[in-house]
Amino acid sequence: MRLRDKLLAARIMPGIFLTLLGGAMMLAGLGIGAGAALALDSFEDARQAMVARQLQRRDITDPRVLIAMGTVPRHRFVPEAMVSRAYGDYPLPIGEDQTISQPYIVALMTQWAEVAPGDRVLEVGTGSGYQAAVLAELTEKVFSIEIRPELARQAAARLKDLGYGRVQVRSGDGYQGWPEAAPFDAILVTAAAPRVPPALTAQLKEGGRLVIPLGPPGGAQTLMRYRRVQGKLVQEASLAVRFVPLVRPTALKAAPGTDPPAATAPSPIPGAPTH
Ligand code: SAH
Repeated sequence: MRLRDKLLAARIMPGIFLTLLGGAMMLAGLGIGAGAALALDSFEDARQAMVARQLQRRDITDPRVLIAMGTVPRHRFVPEAMVSRAYGDYPLPIGEDQTISQPYIVALMTQWAEVAPGDRVLEVGTGSGYQAAVLAELTEKVFSIEIRPELARQAAARLKDLGYGRVQVRSGDGYQGWPEAAPFDAILVTAAAPRVPPALTAQLKEGGRLVIPLGPPGGAQTLMRYRRVQGKLVQEASLAVRFVPLVRPTALKAAPGTDPPAATAPSPIPGAPTH
């Protein structure tokens, strides 16, 4: 009603038409965003089929994890060209040579982390923000670190857009954990490391769980869980997995596919179209 009034007024007062049209478009945009995050998206069937076939038929039994996986709109976390494959039983590329894990692996890591309401949870490797959103369905205290600034920025914006604005996203080196927000009840590392980063175990509460793929980059990695029991770490192994590497900030600077140093960057062509 108010929106219609505004549009009518805009017709009468052409001077403020553009301002109001902008406002109306923003409101319409908000409506679309909120609808997609709730029950109105056309991927509901695909998502529930994913839960039934890929998770329940395997060993995902925690009802809270199943509900979270059946709620988070995974198609909003993948590039537009991949949307029709968002609920498939495989990982997908998310840009910068990184991947969003297969739904089953996200569910397995989440289940293993045993996240209870009120738990403080750290994710290392925000990527698209999907795993962080799944965690945010289970507790309101989610912290997520991403080393690639552009991925961190996009994930934070996406999470906010989808109603997961309480997730705190930081761009930085996950090897260091997040000392100011520690200690954590659960830590999930969604990139593979050769060994457990000591800063992460130091930030784990008594009784806390750390879930991390361990192994060489591109090689045989194993999903591990460490639980702090009376100060000591108790280790358990799960599946063989394949994750992108947890990189050091220095390695990232030298890695191909990242921005070239300013000296060799192509300079803008005068008069060329920009966008
Ligand atoms: N959990 C993500 C997928 C993670 S892919 C999702 O749900 O989409 C692994 C991510 O870890 C990548 O985005 C990569 O940039 C990030 N990463 C690699 N090394 C890191 C480090 N040292 N600290 C923080 N993030 C890191």
